[in-house]
Amino acid sequence: MNVNTLPPALAQPLGRRLVLATLSFCLLFSLATVALRSWHAWANGLATMDSELALIDQVFQGPLAKAIWELDHDNLDTQLDSAAQAAPVGRLLLNIPRPGRADEVIERRREGFSAVGPAPVLVRELAVAPYPGAREVVGSLTLEGDPALLRRRLWREMVSILLTQLVQSLALAGLIMAMFNRLVTVHVKHIARHLGELGPDNLGQRLRLARPKRRNDELDLLEGRINALQANMAEYLERHRLAEQALASNRDQLAEQVAQRTAELREANQRLERLARHDPLTGLANRRQFDEIKEQEFRRAIRGGLPLAVLMCDVDFFKRYNDTYGHAHGDDCLRQVAHLLAQHFSGTGEVVARLGGEEFAVLLPGTNVEQARQAAERLRESLAQRRLPHTGSPISPWVTMSIGIAQFDVELASFDQLLQRADHALYRAKGAGRDRVGQWPG
Ligand code: GH3
Ligand code: MG
Ligand code: MG
Repeated sequence: MNVNTLPPALAQPLGRRLVLATLSFCLLFSLATVALRSWHAWANGLATMDSELALIDQVFQGPLAKAIWELDHDNLDTQLDSAAQAAPVGRLLLNIPRPGRADEVIERRREGFSAVGPAPVLVRELAVAPYPGAREVVGSLTLEGDPALLRRRLWREMVSILLTQLVQSLALAGLIMAMFNRLVTVHVKHIARHLGELGPDNLGQRLRLARPKRRNDELDLLEGRINALQANMAEYLERHRLAEQALASNRDQLAEQVAQRTAELREANQRLERLARHDPLTGLANRRQFDEIKEQEFRRAIRGGLPLAVLMCDVDFFKRYNDTYGHAHGDDCLRQVAHLLAQHFSGTGEVVARLGGEEFAVLLPGTNVEQARQAAERLRESLAQRRLPHTGSPISPWVTMSIGIAQFDVELASFDQLLQRADHALYRAKGAGRDRVGQWPG
C-alpha cells in the first residue's frame, strides 16, 4: 500500500473492538450477576411469603377457632373467604376433627391454583381457651402459598435486575468508547495522516498532537520519537544531498579534465603524425609519406591507365653553398627552394617531398612526360628569377637546380624503377653541366 494513501474506512477500528470486548465482558458478568441475584430474590420471595402466611395465620387463627368452637358456620365461611382472598394464599385447608367420624375438611383455593412449583406451606393448630388455664384444639389450618404469585414476583425482580445490568453495561461501554476516541483514536489517526503526508521535502514539518497540555504519557513519547526520527532523516538527507553535489562537481571537473587531456592528446597525436610524415625543415612531405603515396599512385596508374610523371630535383653545388654561407643559410636556402616547389606543384594529387639533403621528388598524376618537362622548365626558370646568390657555384652566380624526369610505363614492375629512371635522368642532367632538365630515356 502506498504510504501516502490511507484506507477510507478502517475495517476494524480499535475503539469498536474495545467496546465489543467490554460489552462481551459486561454480558457475561451480567448473566452471572442476574443468576446470583435471582437466586437471592427467590430465597427472599420464599421468606417473604412465609412471613406473610404467618401474619395471615396470626390474623385469622383466633376468629376461625372461635367460629369452629361456637359452630358458627356463617362466620366460619366469612373468615375462610377473607383469609383465602389474601394475596399470598394459593390454597387454604381447614381440618376439623369429629369424634367417631372422619375429619371435616374445608378447602378454599385460588382460581387457577396449581401446586406445581415450590411454595411455603404453613400448618397450625387451631385452639380455644373456654376458661382460663384450659386449651382445646378445635382443628388445624393449612395455608399453602401461591406459586404463581411467587413466580410473578421473581419475574418482576429479574426484569428489574436485567434492565439495571443492561443499562449499566451500555453506559460503561459508551463511556469507554468516548474516552478511547477522545484520548487515543483521534491522535492515532492524526499521527497516521501526518506520516502519510510526510515526504523528503517536508521532513521539517513537526508532528503536533492537538492536546491541551503535555501529559508525559505514551502519546507524548510517540510524538517525541517521531519528531526525532524526522529530524535525523532530514539531517541525513541534507548530508546526502551535499555529498551528491560535491560528487557531481568532482565528476564535472573530472570530465572537463578528461576532455582537456583528450584534446591535448589528440593535438599531440596530430603533431606527431605531422612530424612522422613531414620534413621538419621545409614542411614538405618526407620520404616516409612519399613512399606511401607513391605506391597508391603507382597502383592507380596501373588500374586506370592514366599517365604518371615523376621529377627528381637536386640543388647544384649545394655543398659549396654551405661552405660559402654556412649551414644555417643553407637551411634557409632549402626552405626557399621547397616553398617554390610547393607553389609550382599545388594541383590536385600533385605531391612534393624532400627525400633528403638538397634532393626533392615531385609526383605528377595525370601528367605525361612532355607536360612534366614544361613544368620542370618553368620551375627552373622561376628559381633563376629568384636570383638567390651562390657565389660558390662555378656555373651561375645564383642558386640553380638540375631536374630528372621519367614517365610511368606499364612494363615497370615497381615505382622504384620509375624513380631510378628519374634519378638516372637527373644524373645525366648533372653530367651535362647542371641547371637543366634531363629526361629518361634521353
Ligand atoms: P651536386 O651539384 O653534384 O649535387 O653537388 P652537391 O654539392 O650539391 O652535392 P653533394 O651530394 O656533394 O652535397 C650535398 C650537400 O648538402 C652535403 C650537405 O652538407 C648538404 N646538406 C645535406 N642536408 C642538409 C641540410 O639539411 N641543411 C644544409 N644546410 N645542408 C645540407
Ligand atoms: Mg645531392
Ligand atoms: Mg646537389
